[in-house]
Amino acid sequence: MYNDLMETPWLPTTNGEFKRPSEVYISDLDPTLEATESNSNRLIEELGIRKTDVVHEIQALFNNNGSNVSTEMIVFLIQAGTTEDGQIRMQQWMREIKQSEAVDLPTAHVPNPERRERKLQQAYQDASDIERIESVRSVRVHNSDIKRLARAELRKYYTTKDTMICQICRKRMPFNLPNDQGPYFEAVEILPKLKKESSAVYLALCPVCSAKYQIFMKDDAEKCRQFQNRICTRPTPSQNVKMNVTLGDEQTEIFFTEKHFFDIQKILKEERDASASDAQ
Ligand SMILES: [Zn+2]
Repeated sequence: MYNDLMETPWLPTTNGEFKRPSEVYISDLDPTLEATESNSNRLIEELGIRKTDVVHEIQALFNNNGSNVSTEMIVFLIQAGTTEDGQIRMQQWMREIKQSEAVDLPTAHVPNPERRERKLQQAYQDASDIERIESVRSVRVHNSDIKRLARAELRKYYTTKDTMICQICRKRMPFNLPNDQGPYFEAVEILPKLKKESSAVYLALCPVCSAKYQIFMKDDAEKCRQFQNRICTRPTPSQNVKMNVTLGDEQTEIFFTEKHFFDIQKILKEERDASASDAQ
């Protein structure tokens, strides 16, 4: 019976052909097979269906990290990753595994210390003084009351069970401030160059996500304009909201509580209308 199973082309693939187990990749399998066969993962393992590149890649990541993971587990994860949300989680998770890999520390040897010291001394003596001039430029004056209110609101919105999370990576904020001042986080205005002060338009981000948001979103005027449009044209929320954003090579989401998104949406619409009437 087992041999028959191995030698007969009986597995339905997505393009309608039937193949021997050893000939198919997991991703080729007809999805109805996975849906109807509750034990399909085990079947896949026992029949020796060829692993997809993705499985290999994930397994290699784990191996580099000194841990082993079964094919069954990976197939399970891949199936979990068939939803958009699941895929984003999975990518994030793979990045984290990569980041936690041990890296050799760099080295930079000084072969001739005396010569290097002489050169440094000479270069320092020849260097020009740092010039300082008084300059007048327009600098945004932050209203500290608004910012304080924004921080208090963000802390309330994004704390569950005493843990405050980042709106992008959704991880716990990295450390606590001294004297019971709560978690360190960055309150980042969602868009640059807004016309009016408002406590609603801030995001609660960890330092890493804050830097990424600044570089990949706020420094890109066209991207900001599109993001503002997407927020304004979204239906008024009746539950928490997730907005897809691309930050560098990373597809991710910004998570908002319903109330926070509601307020941001209202204010950004006001801002958009105000800019439109300015332009006329
Ligand atoms: Zn974060």
